[in-house]
Amino acid sequence: VVPRTDPITIVEDLIKNNRIAVFSKTTCPFCIKVKQLFSALNLEIGVLEVDTREDGADIQDALLQKTGQKTVPNVFVNGEHVGGCDNTIEAHQNGRLQFLLNKSEGGPSDEMTDDVKYDYDLVVIGGGSGGLAASKEAAMLGAKVAVCDFVVPTPIGTAWGLGGTCVNVGCIPKKLMHQAAILGQSVSDAKKFGWELPETATHNWKTMVEAIQAHIGSLNWGYRVALREKKVNYLNAFAEFVDPHTLKTTDKKKKETTITAKYILLATGGRPRYPDIPGAQEFGITSDDIFSLPRHPGKTLLVGASYIALECAGFLAGLGIDATVMVRSILLRGFDQQMANLIGSYMEKHGIRFQHGYVPTKLERIEEACIEKGTPARIKVTSQNEQGELMEEEYNTVLFAIGRDACTNKIGIEKANVMLNPKNGKVICDEKEQTNIPHIYAIGDILDGKLELTPVAIQAGRLLAQRLFGNGTLLTDYVNVPTTVFTPLEYGCCGLSEEDAIDKYGAKDIEVYHSYLTPLEVTVPKRDDNEGYAKLICVKSLNEKVVGLHIVSPNAGEITQGFAIGLKLGATKADFDNLIGIHPTIAEVFTTLKSTKSSGVDVLQKGC
Ligand code: FAD
Ligand code: NDP
Repeated sequence: VVPRTDPITIVEDLIKNNRIAVFSKTTCPFCIKVKQLFSALNLEIGVLEVDTREDGADIQDALLQKTGQKTVPNVFVNGEHVGGCDNTIEAHQNGRLQFLLNKSEGGPSDEMTDDVKYDYDLVVIGGGSGGLAASKEAAMLGAKVAVCDFVVPTPIGTAWGLGGTCVNVGCIPKKLMHQAAILGQSVSDAKKFGWELPETATHNWKTMVEAIQAHIGSLNWGYRVALREKKVNYLNAFAEFVDPHTLKTTDKKKKETTITAKYILLATGGRPRYPDIPGAQEFGITSDDIFSLPRHPGKTLLVGASYIALECAGFLAGLGIDATVMVRSILLRGFDQQMANLIGSYMEKHGIRFQHGYVPTKLERIEEACIEKGTPARIKVTSQNEQGELMEEEYNTVLFAIGRDACTNKIGIEKANVMLNPKNGKVICDEKEQTNIPHIYAIGDILDGKLELTPVAIQAGRLLAQRLFGNGTLLTDYVNVPTTVFTPLEYGCCGLSEEDAIDKYGAKDIEVYHSYLTPLEVTVPKRDDNEGYAKLICVKSLNEKVVGLHIVSPNAGEITQGFAIGLKLGATKADFDNLIGIHPTIAEVFTTLKSTKSSGVDVLQKGC
């Protein structure tokens, strides 16, 4: 039997019996500061001055055992450990303190009045870019949070770890393969700069895949550790609604658990779509498989003509792989078409084949891959154009990149009555990412009418958590989001395409300043003369406000990220002209654009 005077019991009792418990020392200036803060806030506190007691040192040891913090002040609010002086002041500033205080009044929300006890303040479905950001931020603000993440394997059995699309089968492996391809180009450039290298450099697919997968493994591990450190409960289980506040989770071993939550955040992302044609799922793959494909892809067909198809075709060709893109209609729908076509023609010049106007109608396997013999599969693809003309061709790999479906159809969403857009299964939300059910929110790729990009999902997750559990008031700004297509020559843009600018302001009110460009780096290797291009789209009646920035060049992503702040702040053409460039860079082109498209002047660059 533990005596009542046991130091740990003394600690527990103070915490249990006081909404705010402060372990303090009478002479410590930080303890005085904390006590003054609570007094200024008119909040009653239970104080135990450890320096006035004989067992003071034992009580501090008990605090260490309980919280990992031995020092004073040591503050608890409604049973939750807040920390020392700095932690308490920070909690006051970021709203966590208010949230913890509210807990005893029935919950974190001022919009909700029920006093039902839930297992969690917040359960997030989906541990991808958005879900992880939201859950970590909410937990940091004092909410009790769980995140459910479960990866349903692809038809050929590919699966991955925590972190969602971006880390495992999206941005990260894609950019690393893009880098692998660029290095191939750099090797041949290097010879022109005097490096003495073997005549032909060869690439080993397996080595690259293993290295990239090892890096991804370390990221998966890092995410698990981060969740643990932030006290987010990670459930490696598939979640589905039982009712609007209750979820059933099913893990790999089919073990079912029921959890309840005050708030539920949907962040389930999307998965690649397969066409409804014979052989698609049996013999085709998607971006979910390519980055960990254990065998060399061989001759590859990429179906689709947006971000994913073009990026994958770009890095495959850069690695020396025979790549063909099957384009149903146009390249990069929704993007500035002049820029999309510049990318297309550059890719074509660099050995990527385009089959315009065709869609596949059937896939048949002629021969299975044989690992012992090291031979790849042989797949016959039949395709058809609008005139009904058929085409047949053999490939080793067929990759579908024809869009992604929101993961909202197997999560019992009807049991929560959350409204979806029937056309695409995406979640309809207001500007606060709130669904028609007030305690259910959605972020990331499943949001109807929003961009499917990692930083967009992260921003929405962070800001939502701050609004729900902190003092946050900011809404995610979905306008002027910069983006980049990581094709061999990258395409970066921010703001409106020329087509959209004309639609919005009228052709007469638009002035486009533009120039071709040749990066200095490619002059000595004598390649890609005037293959780069930059343009600023300006609105004449708004003092030439820049409403669109577009660039095709190496490292366009890096360039676009920086200039995007200018567009967000409403920069005009004169502001760009006033900015002094950094020479010699590609980015400086935006500070020196003189020629307008309407003038018809030749904008090919001839010198430095
Ligand atoms: P996700 O990251 O997809 O996470 C959702 C998670 O929820 C997944 O782990 C999923 O398995 C899990 N889940 C789903 N349903 C359940 C359930 N019922 N229970 C439990 N777990 C569930 N964006 C960029 O900004 N830059 C890029 O360069 C870029 N490149 C890309 C390249 C490719 C090939 C692809 C496919 C995408 C790329 N994207 C890029 C887009 C980016 O990856 C996504 O926008 C981002 O990952 C979306 O985050 P999310 O949180 O909405 O969903
Ligand atoms: P998209 O939805 O952007 O594009 C789908 C493409 O497939 C279009 O070219 C479309 O052609 C074509 N298509 C659709 N159906 C068929 C069909 N049945 N047969 C043949 N072609 C078809 O999808 P993605 O998969 O490329 O990308 C999804 C999202 O992921 C992007 O919107 C982007 O937000 C994100 N992403 C971002 C990246 C980045 O930031 N760098 C990189 C990769 C992805 P049509 O124009 O005729 O409809």
